[in-house]
Amino acid sequence: MPENGGSGDSGGGDRGTHGASIELENLTKRYPDSPDPAVDNVNLRIRAGETVVLVGPSGCGKSTTLKMINRLIEPTGGRIRIDGEDVTGMDPVRLRRKVGYAIQSSGLFPHMTVAQNIALVPRMLGWPKARIRERVEEMLHLVGLDPGEFRGRYPRRLSGGQQQRVGVARALAADPPVLLMDEPFGAVDPITREHLQDELVRLQTELRKTIVFVTHDLDEAIRLGDRIAVLRERSHIAQFDTPQAILANPADDFVSGFVGSGAALKRLSLTRVRDVRITGCPTAGVDTPLPQIFGRLRGSRTKEVLLLDRQRRPWRWLRRGDLVRARGSLARAGTPVRSTVTRDATLRDLLEAVLTDRAGRVAVTGRDGEYAGVVDVDGLMDSVHELLEGDARGGRR
Ligand code: ADP
Repeated sequence: MPENGGSGDSGGGDRGTHGASIELENLTKRYPDSPDPAVDNVNLRIRAGETVVLVGPSGCGKSTTLKMINRLIEPTGGRIRIDGEDVTGMDPVRLRRKVGYAIQSSGLFPHMTVAQNIALVPRMLGWPKARIRERVEEMLHLVGLDPGEFRGRYPRRLSGGQQQRVGVARALAADPPVLLMDEPFGAVDPITREHLQDELVRLQTELRKTIVFVTHDLDEAIRLGDRIAVLRERSHIAQFDTPQAILANPADDFVSGFVGSGAALKRLSLTRVRDVRITGCPTAGVDTPLPQIFGRLRGSRTKEVLLLDRQRRPWRWLRRGDLVRARGSLARAGTPVRSTVTRDATLRDLLEAVLTDRAGRVAVTGRDGEYAGVVDVDGLMDSVHELLEGDARGGRR
């Protein structure tokens, strides 16, 4: 019987189906002709709605473990349960309704348009045509691609990043509670990659799917994972914990070796600007009378005032001498604000911005670019020390 695939009414509120728990129980894979199992007795419990990243050196069995969850690879031993239901012997077509899958280089079919690629699983499940069309539009919006521009294109006419977005849209099309991602951003350039990682974090706060993500890149694992499983050979779990706990207290030499040096710097990617103390500085608008600006300058600890434009966006940094030199013309006075960070940026982005700012401070902005505060080197240092001390005391997110 065809399934109608009604996403909006299937349990998880407006944004469709939320995540399901996954349990791997003594999961094992032996390839024929290999003396050792590729995956040996893995036990892992993943909570509904969390992102778990499997990270470890090449060949340790990450991909094999992942592909057993949707049975692209058949286990030779053990069980897989999704939301308590044993799926180890389930018909793979039914299983794919529960489990979306995205891979490196997007895995799009080159002879199909973007829309046909995204529609693949819903078609397989027998959704009505109108519903599929609607869903394709919805998915393109979700991953930030304009349907009018992209639905009819072929994959070769997309950038690597756009292909990857379509890959994610395809994986989510049938609204599965579980999403498996196998090095999905492995083949794109580092900047696009960070962008896609941030987008995935944003998507996940909306969708609350259960995501199992494979990578060999610890930085990626730290950015994305609610919890990280560090794997050694044969998928043995060396440590399964939050990124903070793994960075602060690696379980053994293998994990410390994998984390390597620079744990404090990696820690910065884990905290967002909105989670630390942001101070203010005196501000002025383009219509603020000069005597008032001089008054605020006198009261300013840093002897600076931040001039905001009419949309209250940071515009120019002003000092007393600047105003005198510009003979009171605010549009020419002071130094233009070159970089700002949003509340959603990581502390690593903030550090970069503060380090490259000559005066060692940076304005923080809200969703529409409006002024939200200022962070300087001293403030940033204090926040970082607090975080590291919190981690060392065993603080968890
Ligand atoms: P990872 O994803 O961590 O790089 P894989 O899961 O791809 O590791 O591989 C784990 C181990 O299983 C490796 O030693 C690999 O050589 C072996 N392996 C993977 N696929 C096959 C296969 N089809 N036949 C035999 N051995 C395989």
